[in-house]
Amino acid sequence: MTEEFKNYIGGEWVSAREGKTFENTNPSNVNQVIGTFPRSSKEDVQMAVREALSAFNDWKATPPPERAEILFRAGRLLMERKEELAEVISRENGKTRSSCAGEVQSAIDMANYMAGEGRRMFGRTTHSALRRRFAMTRRYPVGVVGIILPFNFPMALSAWRVFPALICGNTVVLKSDEHSPETTVHFVKILEDAGLPKGVLNLVHGFGPEVGEAITTHPDIALVSFTGSTATGRRVAENCVKRGAKVSLELGGKNGVVVMDDADLELAVDGVVCGAFSVAGQRCTATGRVIVHRDVYEIFLSMLIDKTEKLKTGPADDDTTDVTPLISRAQLQRVLGFIERAQRDGCKILTGGTQLTGGVFDRGYYVKPTIIECDGPEKEIAREEVFGPVLTVLRAEDYEDAMGILNSSPYGLSASIFTRDVTVAFNFLEDADAGVCYINAPTFGSEPHMPFGGMKHSGQGYREVGWTAIETYSELKTLYVDYSARIQNVQFVED
Ligand code: NAD
Repeated sequence: MTEEFKNYIGGEWVSAREGKTFENTNPSNVNQVIGTFPRSSKEDVQMAVREALSAFNDWKATPPPERAEILFRAGRLLMERKEELAEVISRENGKTRSSCAGEVQSAIDMANYMAGEGRRMFGRTTHSALRRRFAMTRRYPVGVVGIILPFNFPMALSAWRVFPALICGNTVVLKSDEHSPETTVHFVKILEDAGLPKGVLNLVHGFGPEVGEAITTHPDIALVSFTGSTATGRRVAENCVKRGAKVSLELGGKNGVVVMDDADLELAVDGVVCGAFSVAGQRCTATGRVIVHRDVYEIFLSMLIDKTEKLKTGPADDDTTDVTPLISRAQLQRVLGFIERAQRDGCKILTGGTQLTGGVFDRGYYVKPTIIECDGPEKEIAREEVFGPVLTVLRAEDYEDAMGILNSSPYGLSASIFTRDVTVAFNFLEDADAGVCYINAPTFGSEPHMPFGGMKHSGQGYREVGWTAIETYSELKTLYVDYSARIQNVQFVED
């Protein structure tokens, strides 16, 4: 029988007010319905916000080290349930179990890191310009935070957003993605089991135009943290800016790897292949472009094609699979559309380029790992995020040319270079327009204790994750205590 999952509002598991539901299916076998979930409306969001508001004062007053105890317990529960959770994520997200276990580990790391913040969350003290006066800063929660998730890393991203929000003393309304809602149910259950007070974290399932819009337009949600596509992020930002709410956006990317003439080519091929094709390219930091120095272009390309053609595409529950299915039919059509338009633009398919069908492939949406040669960075396939197993190759004359191509992208999330030259490597760190830069490594692999986020169209100002998450999820107050027993002020001019 299909399991029926619920929203979590005010500490209770409840159906949507209107009683509507939607189904979630397994991307490795779309005939398998995983469960039904509440198709929530504005009313459900309003209830969740009311509960979050009424829980706020108590949670804000709870000392951060006490909040931290709950996060430490959540980290331990995540560890105990790691295998079982990896299975859940793999089934609803279509990623391999080892990749999903890595995702749970990232959530564990974030729980422990943010719990540690409960005993840091530093403000500063400094000397006042006046006598007998104390000057300091301290961090306070923002209020009710709305967190909107994408489908691709439902456990890691729940942890990366919710744990910092909680440790800072905010209460939360969390919206799951409609393709990966079950993982968020387990995430919330862990916090429930860890002893999080009722109303502090509320979960609302449903779709963007209904639940997402209701969150971004709700007058009592002080901060919205949105992770998803750049197009939706713009809409979210508009809604928030219009009503004066804070907004943190973590958006898409068209991440590039530069391969220099002195690179270790085998290492570079390995880095590019796993960056482009693992999790079927459905990661914000996937490698969408490789920009290759002309002196190694032919040899690199033949090694790259060779390795790509050896990848095994298949369902997530087959432990020998390298490239897993796409999340939905809509995503399949989007990816095939990009490939078709690239060909019309005069780009050449070097390998792949088609949907895989027959046998297990008929139970999901699979695209053969695809490499497209492109003669200019202005073409759509070299500029836009595909979010599928599609890699664009561009040739560069030298380092300057390569950086011109790399930085011509409207996005700026992550970038990498393969080189043995330390001078080139350090120049790259200065020159690349990307929020996360790597030397001799793939374009993904961010660590939870380091800031993460993008420049240009990949983000907007804030950096989530790492110590900067504390800045995103808190307000800084500047505090003066005058113990001179007289009115003194730096703005008075005294003769
Ligand atoms: P998406 O933008 O389609 O959806 C993301 C979320 O927004 C979903 O929960 C969806 O229901 C919701 N949504 C849709 N319309 C909305 C609206 N009008 N108002 C509010 N919410 C709305 O993205 P997706 O397809 O789920 O995820 C893929 C995208 O996410 C890619 O572009 C990827 O690069 C990006 N991403 C970025 C990061 C990062 O940290 N930078 C991480 C993961 C994914």
